[in-house]
Amino acid sequence: MSVKELEINKNLYLYSSSRYHNINSSTFLKEGKALIIDTMLFPDDMKKVKRIVKLRASKGIEWVINTHYHLDHTCGNIVFNNINIMAHNLCRKLMEKHSEEILREWAKVEPEIADIKINLPNVTFSREAKLFFKNAEFELILTPGHSPDSICIYWKNKRILFAGDTVIPIPYFYYGNRKKLIETLKRIIELNPKLIVQGHCAPIYEENIKIELNLKIRYLERINKIVKESIKKGLSKREIYKIPISHCGIDKDPEPDDPFWKRDIHISNLARVYRDLKEAEE
Ligand SMILES: [Zn+2]
Repeated sequence: MSVKELEINKNLYLYSSSRYHNINSSTFLKEGKALIIDTMLFPDDMKKVKRIVKLRASKGIEWVINTHYHLDHTCGNIVFNNINIMAHNLCRKLMEKHSEEILREWAKVEPEIADIKINLPNVTFSREAKLFFKNAEFELILTPGHSPDSICIYWKNKRILFAGDTVIPIPYFYYGNRKKLIETLKRIIELNPKLIVQGHCAPIYEENIKIELNLKIRYLERINKIVKESIKKGLSKREIYKIPISHCGIDKDPEPDDPFWKRDIHISNLARVYRDLKEAEE
């Protein structure tokens, strides 16, 4: 089974797909109705989630929220044709502008997604929004860094933060902004959540939140410092791309079974820092 279910509490279930780096979709249930956050990459995975959720939500799925425009969080929107999909303004704009092109590129390696029609969010907001779902209050907060349109959804009553890719095992800013991601992670520490549902992989529980977020901030600061020093020493681009993650403050492999994080994500981050520093020199 590619989709795993984790019951976080009686109102909250987390679905995770092993087919794309444990991408998460969360479902909040109350009085027979459901709210879904993020819709995965493969519509087939999302269909499975939808089937399970419908068994639990006798009155149906009322809302879907996208945390940001990346395809691995929005492709499954296609499964929710007649349901309100909410996202930040910028998310809809970026989807309109880029999603089809990215989809065409991505479909070369994942043919299953080739025929997907992009289903845009139909409810957007420009600063912050609140969604009252029965007696639960959700704050939708703009948290740029991983991408410019990234939002976090904070379930205030329970202090649970749905972070999208703002919080993932290795922070990723190739399509975003490293400095903004640092600011955002600091804001999340101040928010003091009890549980963080990451965009990928397992949730982070209270006792580890500060430690893990500080580790991510340290990584984001060190990667810049180390690439800067390496450029000064005259290291080539190829040599810089080989700088191990352990030199940038992350010693323990957060996902030992999936080399994607330490390899692909980290190398892309190195490439982005290198590009930014070179551009600043010009
Ligand atoms: Zn993303």
